[in-house]
Amino acid sequence: MKILLSGATGFIGRSLLTSLLKQNHQIYALVRAIKSDIDDQVQQLTLDQLATFNEKMDVFVNLAGENIASQPWTAKRKAALYESRVGLTKNIQSALTHPPSVVISMSAVGFYGVARDDIFDENTPPKPGFAHDLCEAWESAANSFAINDTRVVVFRLGVVLGKGGALAKMRLPFKLGLGGPIAGGKQWFPWVHIRDVERAIMTAIQENSYNGTFNLVSPASVTQKEFASLYASSINRAALVPTPRWLLNSLFGEMASLLTEGARVIPKRLEEHGFRFEFSNIKSALDDVEQNISGR
Ligand code: NDP
Repeated sequence: MKILLSGATGFIGRSLLTSLLKQNHQIYALVRAIKSDIDDQVQQLTLDQLATFNEKMDVFVNLAGENIASQPWTAKRKAALYESRVGLTKNIQSALTHPPSVVISMSAVGFYGVARDDIFDENTPPKPGFAHDLCEAWESAANSFAINDTRVVVFRLGVVLGKGGALAKMRLPFKLGLGGPIAGGKQWFPWVHIRDVERAIMTAIQENSYNGTFNLVSPASVTQKEFASLYASSINRAALVPTPRWLLNSLFGEMASLLTEGARVIPKRLEEHGFRFEFSNIKSALDDVEQNISGR
């Protein structure tokens, strides 16, 4: 299939790209600037080039977005987070000369906001806040592809566990013994292994029954304290010292509230579709990531 991939140079994008190439798909990566470290089999296109590229894509996988956790959420940063998701998604739709048959677009469990006691499936009313507003606008831009018979799937991702992403940020503090329970650690920590993210995207590409919004989180909910303890043990440390709030704020800015509050999210629709998670046990997911990193 001809697959257009935005965000191909990111943590999830690079991993997905490798898997899609192994399946012999023809990949077009939408990039801001041409990169030298992308596989030669991939055709790189800027947005301007896409606008004059007269080929129909079978699938558009939409991963691009300024990193949500790399800088404090100032007004300027919030505008960049919007523009790189909502604005870019709209610009890609305008640039495409033919509508793709399938669009698979990311969102985040941040859509639901934070609440300790609620359980969020895809139909639970969300709590208000910046994360909700951003995700809602991003999803709405993706859903506007649904005109022209395009099948649209939106995945609301939990924290993706893999070699990069959030774990890469947390590894050093945990190695230094600074990783541990946050704000008591009773809040929920929605997570998903990167291989299940790729498997869900590839299944949604193939299966016409996948339509609409899906929570992409492991069915095995854990608290942040359980996560911290198991992550520390996967890197041979103890998670005794509560993570200081200042460290979280400096690492994650306003986004730290997603960690200090959390939300319990369940993959109801994926389970109804018979999707089987390869990783539904966080200990094996974390051990797998660590083995991958250390090449054990
Ligand atoms: P990364 O931050 O690792 O990668 C982001 C990608 O988006 C990069 O390829 C980057 O390209 C591209 N990008 C950023 N800004 C722009 C822009 N203005 N125009 C074009 N491309 C841009 O993200 P992940 O791979 O971790 O995540 C992919 C998506 O999934 C993101 O949108 C993220 O919000 C969402 N998500 C991820 C979660 C996670 O735990 N990883 C959890 C929930 C949601 P460049 O190389 O040019 O910088």
